[in-house]
Amino acid sequence: MFKSTKRFVGFSCAHRQPSHDGHCQYLHGYSRSFYFIFGADEVDPRTHFVMDFSGLKGVKAWLDNMFDHTCLINADDPELELFKQLDERGIIQLRVLPNVSMEATAKYVVDHVQTMLDEVTGGRVFIHACECRENDKNSGWYYPRGGADDISQATSEIGDS
Ligand SMILES: [Zn+2]
Repeated sequence: MFKSTKRFVGFSCAHRQPSHDGHCQYLHGYSRSFYFIFGADEVDPRTHFVMDFSGLKGVKAWLDNMFDHTCLINADDPELELFKQLDERGIIQLRVLPNVSMEATAKYVVDHVQTMLDEVTGGRVFIHACECRENDKNSGWYYPRGGADDISQATSEIGDS
């Protein structure tokens, strides 16, 4: 198996976790980033790349639309209607996710981006793992095929918890 990686950085967005007992229940913001580990059994015979990064323009555009200067709210947030009103009044750009946690966001992103990769690569390239990071200290990972390995340790242990 071959692997390659790509990082997308600088997605300024806000979120809140309403069921959290601590300060995460309050609306707060981060610069999120996304780190992908792509895999393929065979490289592209023309370029010998796993993933031709010039084929990721659609992924970047989708990430921008979802996470650049947006407000991420859980689908079951009890104040969802209030956030919809703020969106309608042009105060926020609302994006409703199943859950805004880094782990859940990583899964949400993988589910969408894998579909785009399938179209671009004819199903050759798969996502081995995706890390969603909110700051230097905190991130969550999703491994769509299971089998988490030590790559996450090697690449993302920037700070303590
Ligand atoms: Zn928080």
